[in-house]
Amino acid sequence: MFVQWYYMFSMVIRKAFKYRLKTNQAIEQQLGRIAGCARFVWNRALAIELERLGTGEKLLGYAELCALLTVWRHDPATAFLAECPVHTQQQTLRDLSRALRDGLSKSSAKRMPRFKKKGRDLDSFRYPDPKQLKLESGRVFLPKIGWVRYRDSRPVVGTPAVVTVSRRGEHWYVSIQTEREIAEPIHPSTTEVGGDLGIARFVTFSSGEVVEPLDSFRKLEDKLALEQRRLARKQKGSANWKEQKARISRLHIRIADARNDFLHKVSTRTGKTHATVYLEDLKVANMSASAKGTTEDPGRNVKAKSGLNKAILDRGWYEFRRQLAYKLRWLGGTLFLVPPRDTSRRCSACGHTAAENRPCQAVFRCVQCGHSENADLNAAKNVLGAGQALSACGAIKPVAA
Ligand SMILES: [Zn+2]
Repeated sequence: MFVQWYYMFSMVIRKAFKYRLKTNQAIEQQLGRIAGCARFVWNRALAIELERLGTGEKLLGYAELCALLTVWRHDPATAFLAECPVHTQQQTLRDLSRALRDGLSKSSAKRMPRFKKKGRDLDSFRYPDPKQLKLESGRVFLPKIGWVRYRDSRPVVGTPAVVTVSRRGEHWYVSIQTEREIAEPIHPSTTEVGGDLGIARFVTFSSGEVVEPLDSFRKLEDKLALEQRRLARKQKGSANWKEQKARISRLHIRIADARNDFLHKVSTRTGKTHATVYLEDLKVANMSASAKGTTEDPGRNVKAKSGLNKAILDRGWYEFRRQLAYKLRWLGGTLFLVPPRDTSRRCSACGHTAAENRPCQAVFRCVQCGHSENADLNAAKNVLGAGQALSACGAIKPVAA
């Protein structure tokens, strides 16, 4: 409901729906004839334009080419053109005019159009005006051909703009290009914020907001460990064992639900409050893997690190980041990930960077200027500063959602 408030501008989404036509010999012959006429019109008009270019004359415009087309369609020598829809031939001239313009333009990298050859170039033609066609689910009405069914009944979404019929191999396809207006969201807020993800606090924002970790989840996990120990004492396969097993799987679901609910609440609130969010680009997966040790040094630091890593994963930082990215995008906001360089050792007040700046995990105190505050808050301010600087010069890009 609230979404409508933000939708002030809109953007046009273009999408093509391509279906394979269910043809028979008669339909294929007629499709081939229309494609042949399109090729004929293209080549004849191109020959005229190239000749004018050669003699230094001005190119004919689309309207003049269309006038010529009318003459050709009435000329007994090329009367076969009149058996095919005029709109597809006019569209061919429109395409040719554009191709010539692009080919002659110095700013365009496109080559000059060339003559189309049967067998080498794609057999295709276009209907510029979708009003000439009738579209129903599973079939399309093509002028001078009639109803043609197509495979796949995936519905067309949007307003048809151009319809292209083309042959690839032995099959004919219809491609319906549609246009659909969708709202371009404008974020209701203009604030920018940096966030520091942590163990003691789930996230600390540079604005001073703090999100505490989910305690209920911790309790549930303790309960899970207890139930798992109980399971180990039961005889495998027994009725008691099966009952215990079911209890554990219900607990797993409760834990997942609790975590999911928590992350959605935090990401929704953050996404609505701030237009731009900068988070440290923590390599969560790498941190988790490192506790396993390397092959040369198996299990190094496993005990010291596994508790920390587990907590990191439990807090669902990665999932939080993912949810925040799409929720911001949906509201017209942006998420940036900032390389975590010195964010915990730099003073957010004077910029002095030193390991001694952090006497303990919780407190930051600058040895240069004496500035003192919560270490997570200081880090969040650094993330904001670094993020603004890096995004301004294009060194970091918004996270695509
Ligand atoms: Zn300082």
